[in-house]
Amino acid sequence: MSAVDAAIVGTGPNGLAAAVTLARAGLRVELYEAADEIGGGLRTRALFDSDVVHDICSAVHPMAAASRFFREFDLAARDVELLQPDIAYAHPLPDGPPGIAHRDLARTCAGLGPDGKRWHRLMAPLVERGTAVTDLVMAGGRALPGDPVAGARLLTRVLAHASRFVPDGFTTERAAALLTGVAAHAVGPLPSLSSAGVAMLLGHLAHSSGWPLPRGGSASIARALAADIRAHGGVLHTGTRVDDLRDLGAVPLVLLDTSPKELLRIAGDRLPPAYVRRLRAFRYGPAAAKVDFLVSQPVPWRDPEVGRAGTVHLGGTRAEMHRQETLTARGTPTDRPFVLVVEPAATDPGRARPGKYPVWAYAHVPHGDSRDPTALVTRRIERYAPGFGDTVIAHRAVSGRQFEAYNPNYVGGDIGAGAMTLRQSLLRPTAQLDPYRTPLHGVYLCSASTPPGPGVHGMSGHLAALSALRRAYGVRSRPSLAPVVEPADPLGG
Ligand SMILES: Cc1cc2nc3c(=O)[nH]c(=O)nc-3n(C[C@H](O)[C@H](O)[C@H](O)COP(=O)(O)OP(=O)(O)OC[C@H]3O[C@@H](n4cnc5c(N)ncnc54)[C@H](O)[C@@H]3O)c2cc1C
Repeated sequence: MSAVDAAIVGTGPNGLAAAVTLARAGLRVELYEAADEIGGGLRTRALFDSDVVHDICSAVHPMAAASRFFREFDLAARDVELLQPDIAYAHPLPDGPPGIAHRDLARTCAGLGPDGKRWHRLMAPLVERGTAVTDLVMAGGRALPGDPVAGARLLTRVLAHASRFVPDGFTTERAAALLTGVAAHAVGPLPSLSSAGVAMLLGHLAHSSGWPLPRGGSASIARALAADIRAHGGVLHTGTRVDDLRDLGAVPLVLLDTSPKELLRIAGDRLPPAYVRRLRAFRYGPAAAKVDFLVSQPVPWRDPEVGRAGTVHLGGTRAEMHRQETLTARGTPTDRPFVLVVEPAATDPGRARPGKYPVWAYAHVPHGDSRDPTALVTRRIERYAPGFGDTVIAHRAVSGRQFEAYNPNYVGGDIGAGAMTLRQSLLRPTAQLDPYRTPLHGVYLCSASTPPGPGVHGMSGHLAALSALRRAYGVRSRPSLAPVVEPADPLGG
């Protein structure tokens, strides 16, 4: 008999969330990670000759602050402090003042002038039913809305912002670009149904649970998950890439925090041809190309309010973003890509040292792009922060192509582990009732290539683990994920 009940391949947020869920249900879990460090998209480390640390992948966590998995896991009770910038995101424009999304909805509306009322009508009804909206989106289309009013509010708004032929009613570039910058997080052609869904989810979260940054960096989330797994008997192995499922031995359950491409690589010869065909048809999206900078001072934004934002979107006008994102999705390189910038020390001052500040930035580029993004990203920042280039002490660039070498889940540099087309937003990786299950007995996919898709929310791993528990053990109740409170010592020792 196997000493292990479940093997988990990959330790990104979804692999860790799957392991937490299974370990909390009483299973003995063992995790295998190809890299020398756990965490997948949740790694933070020093990159230069300095003790300033940089988030290698994710930096800002609207979904970790809001998802059902993390609400129950309770990061705050585990000493992971989610720091909230007053300004969730900012969108500087070539002409005129920037769009500013304050956490405070009323303040945001006040700053949007004639479009303030429209922004309020768009966001306030979603904020009012925020938990239901979030749970509905993060059920990956696999649950009937528990709150039909929330479902209706979401659907009408998605439909109203999904096409360039349906006017959204914004009369100012500031509001139109502010919303389009959030839609661009879908990393695909704009506008579209899936990008409108992303805009409504992330847009309303900015005004409710926020777009926070964990104190000290994203790795603190991975550490909290790993601590819970170990506390419940789990074992984590690093530096162990699984090349063949057979190497795991006779483990009753295997959960793969991998891409479908990796599933084909490690078990393709055992999968039925029809499933292999469907996995091969799974499409990967545009890439991210990232530059981490060490700079001598905060970014000299032309408008200082932009420097107070947790996240800055550099995409120009709505029309420009529509054009550039659509070109990028079609595989055409552009010299004005959409760029996201985070200055962690603006929210978490402990991340800076005297004269040394980290800057995290990445551009959307075509799938498989191998260009060094340094000049592209620097030019984009300079456009809104003249003199930025002169503040750079050191930098490190990762092209789209290099991202796949860093993490096999980022196929062709696609950090979403699969294009967010309408079909693949709902049906990923294939069209089947239980998207987590594979035709191999006891083998499940649990990565961002499964619903609800990309982002640090833990829900793909959690839902895959619940599916495995139901099928293997008939367990229908959800295990508690809450921190275990040690009983008080009756002797007071
Ligand atoms: C530059 C960048 C910025 C991002 N910014 C944000 C952000 O700000 N907020 C946000 O919410 N999300 C962000 N994301 C997305 C987020 O990081 C991912 O969606 C999330 O990490 C996906 O989690 P996962 O567990 O599915 O996979 P991953 O985090 O990709 O982890 C998969 C793990 O599996 C391992 N693995 C794969 N195959 C094998 C194998 N055969 N054997 C052993 N190990 C294997 C990999 O090494 C990796 O560690 C960003 C991503 C990138 C790259």
